[in-house]
Amino acid sequence: MHELASDVRRDIVLATRMLVNESVMDAFGHVSVRLPGDPGGYLMSRACAPNLIVAGDILEFTLESDPVEPTKAQLFAERVIHGEIYKARPDVMAIVHCHPTSLLPFCISATPLVPVFLMGATIGHHVPFWNQRDDFGDTSLLVVKPEEGRSLARALGQNSMVLMRLHGATITGANLPDLVFRAVYACRNADAQSAAHALGRVAVLSPGEAERAGALCSRVGGFSSRTWDFWRQQLQLSGNGPADD
Ligand code: MN
Repeated sequence: MHELASDVRRDIVLATRMLVNESVMDAFGHVSVRLPGDPGGYLMSRACAPNLIVAGDILEFTLESDPVEPTKAQLFAERVIHGEIYKARPDVMAIVHCHPTSLLPFCISATPLVPVFLMGATIGHHVPFWNQRDDFGDTSLLVVKPEEGRSLARALGQNSMVLMRLHGATITGANLPDLVFRAVYACRNADAQSAAHALGRVAVLSPGEAERAGALCSRVGGFSSRTWDFWRQQLQLSGNGPADD
């Protein structure tokens, strides 16, 4: 095991359980983090219920999404999402793939997801939409082939998240606290935008506002402990945290 990997395993457990606790994930979805000190690999759990994840569930993968050590554990079919994005985006250090109820209307309708409040700026000025059908025709909608993961990574481009037609979303972060911030506030932004549409006209952050507010979000979410500490305590209070936290 790499030197820092045991701490990171613990943080993956916390991030995953926080995201379940904040309704970003349910029985489905997965979090990964690039291997500390080795850009050529990543850590992700075996296929298991995210709210029950423990550090021992977390395995090491190559960027080809093969397990580094032989394992009999069941693996997430969609892990190519993670490997192909890490290949395409050296700046991305953490990824979540999820299907939150908040984001699904934007995966279904033609309405673009746009930043509508300060913390919502974490989604960026532009959120790309990936239509798997364009490249691959009729599929099960799961992203299981490396070429499907590559197509998704191309659609993501330099943005922080990508919506997936009739499926869900994939969100990236500079580290795990940043990832949790982005994922939670992507959902809050979607909820606020959906509610605002029901009321009437929707005001949107300008590109300049989205850039400045987005930079502020990155500082608070990724490089202060404030939001991580908040969601960690919410997790403890819910009784859904890991037994040793
Ligand atoms: Mn999925």
